[in-house]
Amino acid sequence: MEKRELLYEGKAKRLFLTDDENLVISEFKDDLTAFNGAQKSSEAGKGALNNKISTELFKLLEKNGIKTHFVKMLDDNHMLHTKVDVILIEVIVRNIATGSLTRNLGIKDGTVLPFTLVEFDYKDDDLGDPKLNDQHALILGLVEYQDELDKLRRMAREVNDVLRPFFAAKGLNLVDFKLEFGKDKNGNIILVDEISPDNCRFWDMESGEKLDKDRFREGLGGLKVAYEEVLNRILG
Ligand code: 5GP
Repeated sequence: MEKRELLYEGKAKRLFLTDDENLVISEFKDDLTAFNGAQKSSEAGKGALNNKISTELFKLLEKNGIKTHFVKMLDDNHMLHTKVDVILIEVIVRNIATGSLTRNLGIKDGTVLPFTLVEFDYKDDDLGDPKLNDQHALILGLVEYQDELDKLRRMAREVNDVLRPFFAAKGLNLVDFKLEFGKDKNGNIILVDEISPDNCRFWDMESGEKLDKDRFREGLGGLKVAYEEVLNRILG
């Protein structure tokens, strides 16, 4: 499958059309951004690691009955996947409090939440991805019906129910993550985007070491080694 016209360029990926109107190709970039693009860098090999990690995790989710846009990994930096209409809601799943939850609500960093929290952010860089409630999402027309919002929450919990024990068995705490969803040509809601240390937080269960993009956000260094460690744990 060959890349055709560039359809869209995001902060971490480029999206290309193909000869098949139902399929597109994502190219995973080495670029790193944080704080809504205010902090920028690049790390050679990061894109390929995220492509490989996402490929393994999409396969795992598909095996567990969760519909995703994944078709196949084409090469180090390219993934073939279904073309969808992306729903402009970032679905945030949290098992342990950190990041914006800690900042916004004062919950102590590292607190294991009494139940898994699912939140919605509006995927809009100009507005800085603000928090959404269901009424906001419906007023903005991000989905048509309440039951679609319920489905996003349900699917997000299903993803967590697969990934959290999977990573726990590999000695990693899945602290929190961001998912995106889209509608395929039949109107079915499926999981899209990527699942990688760019949009998940992984903490080593023994040392507490951060093995995700917080290494970049917090200037800790060692980002590529951390992402390689996540891939090795997945494959191990
Ligand atoms: P927080 O709201 O604490 O900043 O992020 C919660 C989780 O969602 C983290 O795992 C973070 O990586 C992910 N996340 C939230 N918003 C975004 C975003 O706009 N882009 C990416 N790549 N990840 C996000």
